[in-house]
This record gives sequence, structure tokens and C-alpha cells, in this order.
Amino acid sequence: MSHLMNTYARLPVSFCKGQGAVLQDTEGKHYLDAVSGIAVTSLGHAHPAIAEAICSQSQTLLHTSNLYQIEKQVQLADKLCTLSGMEKVFFCNSGAEANEAAIKIARKSANQKGITHPKIIVMENSFHGRTLATLSATGNPKVQEGFYPLVEGFVRVPYDNLEAIEALQDDKDIVAILVEPVQGEGGVHVPKAGYLQSLRKLCDQNDWLLMIDEIQTGIGRTGKWFAFQHEGILPDVLSLAKALGNGMPIGASLVAGKARDILVPGNHGTTFGGNLLACAAALAVLNTLEIHKYIDHVAQKGDVLLQEFRKSLADVPGVVEVRGKGYMIGIQLNQPCGVLVGKALEQGLLINVTRGDTIRLLPPFVMNQEQSQQLVQIITQLVREFTATAS
Ligand SMILES: *Cc1c(COP(=O)(O)O)cnc(C)c1O
Repeated sequence: MSHLMNTYARLPVSFCKGQGAVLQDTEGKHYLDAVSGIAVTSLGHAHPAIAEAICSQSQTLLHTSNLYQIEKQVQLADKLCTLSGMEKVFFCNSGAEANEAAIKIARKSANQKGITHPKIIVMENSFHGRTLATLSATGNPKVQEGFYPLVEGFVRVPYDNLEAIEALQDDKDIVAILVEPVQGEGGVHVPKAGYLQSLRKLCDQNDWLLMIDEIQTGIGRTGKWFAFQHEGILPDVLSLAKALGNGMPIGASLVAGKARDILVPGNHGTTFGGNLLACAAALAVLNTLEIHKYIDHVAQKGDVLLQEFRKSLADVPGVVEVRGKGYMIGIQLNQPCGVLVGKALEQGLLINVTRGDTIRLLPPFVMNQEQSQQLVQIITQLVREFTATAS
């Protein structure tokens, strides 16, 4: 019996090393990684540039504290603002913390306007984290079950539905919209083109903050640095984490425009957030993505991969839909398919199933041609066998 708290239903496999898109378990078996630690290790495992940045920073200085100036944080914030068009950055350690900062910014903007019971519009089927405020924002009863009372001040509407939001415009307590550009945990749902543009317009008309949760979609995953860039808009608040450190824990909350100066000294903080080690790793991640043009590659190869899956699964009746953007792909079946995770594992492939019936693929950007063909081939065979025998 292990002394780990029983919070995860873990698969019976333990990895001891990795290289690029391949992981090796303690028995010496190799696996193609199409999960990337849930959209974290986009540059693959043991990337030399990231390893070198972490190694050399750890030999110099790990942590001082936000009591002092941290040059690496300034550099990383500069870089993130140049890439995104945002103006200021607060660094934290995880996605949930980035969203917590966003929620606090929305609350404070409301309090400044004299609104004492502000509300944030959130979506059905969304995921924003596991802290009390972020699980309250999350649109999944399973995440909330057992943790009542929830944090108040969230109004829920269906995703990709503008009428539902337009119907709320008379509510003077609403101050912000919090939204994922593509719903990840919720089953890889890509909204109709123009959705974010319309949300931007609604926020401008009503003096609401547009807060975009790019914790999963950000840092290249959808084929642009940030998914909102597909629509040529700018959010007021942007949450990042997952791929920012390629495995080094770091999150960020970025602000622009009217959200830029809401938080002031004493309003918010964290001990670890943006320490030298995390910032050194993230700087190396951004530089490496840029130098090797990985994100252009994701845009091109992501489209190709999606088309290949659509073709190879076109005649399989149990497949409801193949959807995605960049290297974020969902294959929805007409029945629960969690068992496929174990079947794929046996065949040396790591996949994820979300929402019960949707295979979610989040391959690392460094996956080569041969590996992506292998991915399509194994998944196609697994889905064909599963849908032919099950139900
Ligand atoms: C993973 C995720 C989070 C939570 O991030 P943690 O680092 O696990 O706290 C929040 N929002 C989205 C969209 C995510 O994918």
C-alpha cells in the first residue's frame, strides 16, 4: 500500500526516461507519447535546450523571492507580451492559479465600479482547474460534486452560443466572460469561426472583461502562439500554464488595456511564482519554439493529421466526429471508450480519453513523420476493433 493520497486512478505503468516523443518504462518497453503529460511537454522529453537552461540556472541561482527584482521574470514577461500583444504579466505555478488571478482581477474591477456581487459568465462543459474558485467556474458537475458550497458569482451558458450571452446583457452585475478558445478537458470542442470575435464585441459593448483561458491551447498547441490569434482579437486577461515550462511548473496571468493596472502591491502574490529556475526554463521553451519554427509545423502537420484521421475513420460507423485544431485532436465515439487507453498502452501508445467517449490526442510538436503515421495506424486499428466488437 502506498502512502500517496488516493486522488488519481493511475495506469499500471511507470516511466523512467524519455527522448523526444518516446517514453521508456521501468521494464524497458518503449511508448509513443500522444499525451505530452496533458499538453505540457510540447518540445518532447529531455529536450537538450531546456535541459541545458535548467542545468545552468540551477548551478547559478534557483530562487530569491518576489521581495526582490528578478531579471529573468522581466525578460520572460517582455517575451510573452511581444508574442501575445498583452501588456503585463503575473507569474504563478499552475493553471488554476493563473485563473484564480483572472477571477480576482474581474472581482476587483467590479468592486472598483461599485458592484458588490459581481458575476462572471462561464461555459457549460468548461474546465478551469481544481481550486475552489476555479472548480466553481468549471462546467462539469463531477469536478464540483462533494465540495459544496461553491464559490458564488458564476453564470453558466452553453459553449459556442452567442444568443445565451446576449440574453444576459441587462444584468448589471456581470463583469467578465471566462472562456477556453477550444474546450480541452470537455472533449476538444472547436467553436464556430468568429466566436471569439463576437465575444470581444459583446465585452466591448457591455464593458466586460474578456478573459481567455489558454492554459491548454496556448504556446503553440493550436498552430499559433495563442489560439485567440486565429481570430485577430486581444483578450483583456489571458491565462497560461501547461506548455509554458515544458514540464517545469509555471503559470502566467497576462493583462492588457482596461485590465492592465487593476492589481497593485498587496493585492496578490505567491512565494514560488516566477522564480529564476521556472523563468529560465520558460525562456528556453519560447526561444526553442521560435528558432525551430515548431508552431508553423504544428499548423501544417495538425491539419494533415486531422485529415488523415478523418479519412482512415470515415467508414467506421461508431465514430461520431473527428475534430481539432493544430496538435489538439478529439475523436468522439458513440459509446464510452475509456478501455482504449489500456489497449493503446499494451501496443506502446499513450493516449487520453476525456468526457468518457472522446479520444484526446495532444502529441508533442517534435513527433516525426514516421511516428505520426504510427499514431494514425494504431488508433485507427484500435477504434475499428473496438467499435466492431463493443455494444
Ligand atoms: C489544465 C487546465 C487548467 C488547470 O491547470 P492546472 O495546472 O492543472 O491547475 C485550467 N484550464 C484549462 C483550460 C486547462 O486545460
